[in-house]
Amino acid sequence: MTAASTPVRTRFAPSPTGFLHLGGARTALFSWAFARHYGGTFILRVEDTDLERSTPEAVQAILDGMTWLGLKPDEGPFFQMQHMDRYREVVAQMLSAGTAYHCYSSPAEVEAMRERARAAGQKPRYDGTWRPEPGKKLPPIPTDRKPVVRFKSPQDGATAWVDLVKGPISFDNTELDDLVIARPDGTPTYNFCVVVDDWDMRITHVLRGDDHVNNTPRQITILRALGAPIPEYGHVPMILGPDGEKLSKRHGAVSVMEYDRDGYLPEGMINYLARLGWSHGDDELFSRDQLVAWFDPQHLSKSAAQWDPKKLNWVNAHYIKHTDDQQLAALVAPRVSARGGDTQRTDLVAVVKLLKDRAETLEQLAEAAMLFCGTFTPATEDLRAQHLTEIARLALTDFAKQAETIDWNRVEIAALIKSLLATHGLKMPQLAIPLRVAVAGTTQTPAIDAVLEILGKQTVLARIATAA
Ligand code: GLU
Repeated sequence: MTAASTPVRTRFAPSPTGFLHLGGARTALFSWAFARHYGGTFILRVEDTDLERSTPEAVQAILDGMTWLGLKPDEGPFFQMQHMDRYREVVAQMLSAGTAYHCYSSPAEVEAMRERARAAGQKPRYDGTWRPEPGKKLPPIPTDRKPVVRFKSPQDGATAWVDLVKGPISFDNTELDDLVIARPDGTPTYNFCVVVDDWDMRITHVLRGDDHVNNTPRQITILRALGAPIPEYGHVPMILGPDGEKLSKRHGAVSVMEYDRDGYLPEGMINYLARLGWSHGDDELFSRDQLVAWFDPQHLSKSAAQWDPKKLNWVNAHYIKHTDDQQLAALVAPRVSARGGDTQRTDLVAVVKLLKDRAETLEQLAEAAMLFCGTFTPATEDLRAQHLTEIARLALTDFAKQAETIDWNRVEIAALIKSLLATHGLKMPQLAIPLRVAVAGTTQTPAIDAVLEILGKQTVLARIATAA
C-alpha cells in the first residue's frame, strides 16, 4: 500500500436523492475502515448539486444511517452546493490556462454530431468544433447563445490506473470526448465537482461502487490538467440479491434504517456488510476493532457479493447473544411497549437473558418477551382438554400447594418439579407441558423452571388456580 508517505484521506460522497441503502452503507463502511486502518481521515461529502433530485430529507436519512452504523466522519458533512464559487473559480482558471474552452454548439448541433458519429460506426461524441488548436480558425461566436465550458481532453495516449480492487484499467483517450464542465448558466457538472473536491479535500484514496469506473478516466484527466495529485481508486462490485439479480425492495434495496426498525444491531450490520465484498481468511464474525485492524484493499473482492438474509440473521443472532443483558433489555423495552407489553411488571433483564439465545433480531426477542410482558391469553379449550388431564391437574394442584413454601428461584422450582415427578410417577413432559398450558397458555416456552421464576410466584399460582 502506498499509504505510508501521505496521510490517508478517504471520503464517502453520497448523492442525497434517497435513503442510505446497503450499497451506499457498504461504500461508507469500506472508506471509513480504510481510513481508520491507516490512521487517516474519513470525510463525508454530500453531492447535492442535482437540485431536482436532492432533498433535505435524504440528507438527513444519510446522516441518520451513518450515525446508526457508527460511521462518524472526521470531517464534514460538506455540501457541494456550498462550493459553487470554488468550482467557478477553477473553471475560470482552466479557461485562462487553456485546458478548457467555450463551446457554442447548441444541444441540437451536438446531437447531430453524435448522430453522424453513430452513422459512421463510431462512438457518439462531440466533434471538437470549438476546440482551440494551434493554427485552427474557430467559427464566429454566435451572439444569441451562451456557451458551455468543455474540458480539453487529451486526444491520444491512454488514461490508466491500477485499481485497488480490479487491478490495471486503461481507457484510450480517443474514447473520451471533451466533457462539459460548466453549463451555459455557469453551473458546474458532476464529474468536475467531484474532481475539484477530491483535489481540495486532498483525498488520497477513493473507494466507490464500480458504476463509477467510466467516470474515473475523465476525473483523472481533469486532475492531471489541474496539476493535482491523482488519488488511488478502488471500484467495488455491486451487491446482488439472493437470486443473483439486482437488489430488490424485498432484499436490501431499502434504507439501512429499516434494518434498525426490524431489530438488527448496528454491530451485526457492520460485520455482515464488511463481509460483502471483503474477507479476512475464513473469519465471519469480527468486531469493529478487528475490522479496522484487518481492513486492507488487497482482500476486496473482484466479484459481486450476494446478499444473504439468512447469514445476516445468523450474524445478528451472534451479536444479540453477546450483548450485555442490561443493554439488551434497554434495546428491547421500546419494542415490547410498542406491542402493548408492560416492561415494568417483570424483570426485563432476566427475560432477555433467558430468551436471547434463540433470537435473531430484537423484534423476535420482543415478541418472545411478550410471554412475560403481554396480557395473558389462557389456553384454548382444545389445549386444556388435551393437556390438563385428571392426572395433570392433581400434579398441578400439588405443585401450587408446595410452591407456597419454597424460595421462588429457578433451582428450588426445579427441585420441586423433580420431587413431584417422583411422587406422581410422571415423566418430565407430563408435568412441564401442563404447567406451560396453565401459566403460559401454550405448550412451548423456554425452560419451564426459568419461565416460572420470571413470571413470579403470585402470577403462577393464580394461573394454576384458574386452570386446574
Ligand atoms: N455521488 C456519487 C454517488 O452517490 C458518488 C461519487 C463518488 O464516490 O465519486 O453515487
